Amino acid sequence: MSTAALPEALGAAARQFVAGPESGHGLLIGSQRIAAADGATFQTLDPSNGMPIATVAQAGPHDVDRAVAVAREAFQSGPWATMPALERGRLIGALADAVAEHAEELAQIESLDNGKPVKLAQFVDVAGTVAHLRYFAGWPTKIEGAVLPVMAPNMHCYTRREPVGVCAQIVPWNFPLLMAAWKIAPALAAGCTIVLKPAEQTPLSALRLGELALEVGFPPGVLNVLTGDGATGAALVEHPDVDKVAFTGSTAVGREIGGKAGAALKRVTLELGGKSPNIILPDADVEAAAKGAFQAIYFNSGQACNAGSRLFVPAERFEEVTGVLAERAAKARLGAGLDPETQLGPLVSAEQQQRVLAYIESGLQEGASLLTGGEAALGESGGYFVAPTLFASTSDELRICREEIFGPVLVATPYDTLEEVARRANDSDYGLAAGVWTRDLGSAHRLAAMLRAGSVYVNCWAASDPAAPFGGFKASGVGREHGHVGLDSYLETKTVWAAL
Ligand code: ADP
Repeated sequence: MSTAALPEALGAAARQFVAGPESGHGLLIGSQRIAAADGATFQTLDPSNGMPIATVAQAGPHDVDRAVAVAREAFQSGPWATMPALERGRLIGALADAVAEHAEELAQIESLDNGKPVKLAQFVDVAGTVAHLRYFAGWPTKIEGAVLPVMAPNMHCYTRREPVGVCAQIVPWNFPLLMAAWKIAPALAAGCTIVLKPAEQTPLSALRLGELALEVGFPPGVLNVLTGDGATGAALVEHPDVDKVAFTGSTAVGREIGGKAGAALKRVTLELGGKSPNIILPDADVEAAAKGAFQAIYFNSGQACNAGSRLFVPAERFEEVTGVLAERAAKARLGAGLDPETQLGPLVSAEQQQRVLAYIESGLQEGASLLTGGEAALGESGGYFVAPTLFASTSDELRICREEIFGPVLVATPYDTLEEVARRANDSDYGLAAGVWTRDLGSAHRLAAMLRAGSVYVNCWAASDPAAPFGGFKASGVGREHGHVGLDSYLETKTVWAAL
């Protein structure tokens, strides 16, 4: 594929990687970049103009077999299986350093493939990837068992924490590199081996991450990357030699994966959708709350599982808050991610744009009031833009109030009392995140305890740290990522009884 079609703003390193070999981007299995066994490929597009940017191998069942076999081999024999914990940690740290050294290149690849503003890619996606790898680089040497005071005399009883085994890690397109890092960092720290499958909309950064892992010295087979679509993901989930599935994506696919993993008794963690309530209390600093509410929904063009998509505003402050928000939204600068002036990039695909526009239409049909946005934008670009949209609704029953939209669409709704707002905030199938804006400590912590959500943000939104658990209540998921809880989900506990 010629590089001529790639945007001018792409630097030399990113350009060279994206252009790839003439035959397109191969799968990463062991130490090789190879074509799919049946030669199948797909194209990844630039969401800011709909033009193809690269041809990528589409892994089929035969490739899944090959990758899982290579991962199994690396898990059971070879240098990874016997590597001292200190060395495992050093390698994870070396990968963090390599990602930091390639920060600009990776941010540009991500911005081009996903559409997000390049600064966001650099300061959130790439910086977060480095942080997760650095954090988990410290863990291998701290994975300890215990000696247990059992009742039997002359018995030495102890536990060992052992890696779960071969992990299938399936990630979405909204933060492709970062979601990959959230998954690979704890798995590598635990001593697992990995078959990583990025989303078909954004396959490129995971391939580059896999290459960097080989460059810094990870043994071949420890981190394999299979590009492909849902069928590739399903074949991985169903593969009998996969010990654990870690998935981030839609609740519908998460339910399917959870069912299959349950039937096969595979270990599974699921980080799924959300419809997160963001609550402004009457005493809040309204300026800060409105700014926070804007970021909570429109960040990454609303394509975040923990987007603050339901805004609860005290009835007496409703017009003031929605007025500020609508004005800001109307002024937001939309454009291609690689344009440094862009505040909101396009949605990732034509399909996602249509999905979001259909939700907007349903909001109008069901009687919500449109305060700003409500339509596709920059149509002449050929890109998948949607104007940041704000609805007001007094009912919580509309589809736009209950279903995850995964786009720049916020529904603001008035309320009267704290108990009422807690009840309404919790009236959702989801429970990923919730926010509270207040200057009153008592209300903040009372609400934090009342809200059924995996993360509660007080006077902030989407705060994140590799040490702080993240995941969902209810239909938002199973298990937690980050911190020692995240590490635990890649470890089995073995109890050893030795009669003395
Ligand atoms: P979205 O609806 O946001 O695109 P999905 O849940 O469909 O999210 O996709 C998230 C990831 O899951 C992607 O890597 C995708 O290819 C993969 N995927 C989609 N369907 C399946 C499936 N049935 N089994 C396993 N993985 C799947």
